Amino acid sequence: APDIRFEDVRFGYERDRDILHGVSFTIPAGKTVAVVGPSGAGKSTLARLLYRFYDVGRPGAGPHEPTGRITIAGQDIRHVTQDSLRRAIGIVPQDTVLFNDTIEYNILYGRPDAGHDEAVRAARAAHIHDFIARLPKGYQTLVGERGLKLSGGEKQRVAIARTLLKDPPILIFDEATSALDSANERAIQAELRQVARDKTTLVIAHRLSTVVDAHEIIVLEQGRVVERGTHAELLAAG
Ligand code: ADP
Ligand code: ADP
Repeated sequence: APDIRFEDVRFGYERDRDILHGVSFTIPAGKTVAVVGPSGAGKSTLARLLYRFYDVGRPGAGPHEPTGRITIAGQDIRHVTQDSLRRAIGIVPQDTVLFNDTIEYNILYGRPDAGHDEAVRAARAAHIHDFIARLPKGYQTLVGERGLKLSGGEKQRVAIARTLLKDPPILIFDEATSALDSANERAIQAELRQVARDKTTLVIAHRLSTVVDAHEIIVLEQGRVVERGTHAELLAAG
């Protein structure tokens, strides 16, 4: 897995109104770093910069690129194509929209706007049952289910499976469990830790309690890093 570095990253959607004011952190290869902070702190913006969601020229883009540097495996992402970024980074968002079809179909075909070529689909279809069998226990019960009568937790499992199927070396969990009740949240968090074991992972979360196992936790407030450390260190700091 690659390492990821944010070096003094500044970014705003509008000129002269920065949302991120010089953010730096490193996710060592295969480790998890969590960004925690209140709503509006800039957490999602930070995650989206990693896959150049707000590239100049795209809808919703800012008038300028972020300044500073973001690198993946030492390579400045400005020099990486959007396609390579898409292949390298798997995202599990908070809200998952599923097709009203089988779970297998949902896992295979991804988001409604996802384009897959036939060869890729065929290869995935051939091993989808093996793939699900290798996921944590909660996933097995999904097979054979149909449609959208799934609980929030089950929907997130489908979203996670869909992301894992393309085997990206980098994962982003953007509030992936924050819409769930606390029992479900704990269950899915445990599963995420298992599936993310050797991936380079960025976790975005509201609460410190959901990111116990991160290599480092960064507390972001109003676009600035105000604290950083392990879960135990941050708890001790109050
Ligand atoms: P968080 O994920 O921590 O809740 P966000 O990154 O979503 O924070 O938002 C940070 C700030 O950027 C907020 O003030 C938000 O209103 C603003 N913002 C987010 N997306 C856009 C956008 N597409 N255009 C303009 N402002 C945005
Ligand atoms: P595939 O590579 O299998 O076609 P997808 O099309 O589902 O996978 O996703 C490809 C990429 O699209 C993701 O890795 C990510 O860069 C982007 N993406 C996925 N989900 C979202 C989302 N909720 N918001 C923005 N971009 C996303």
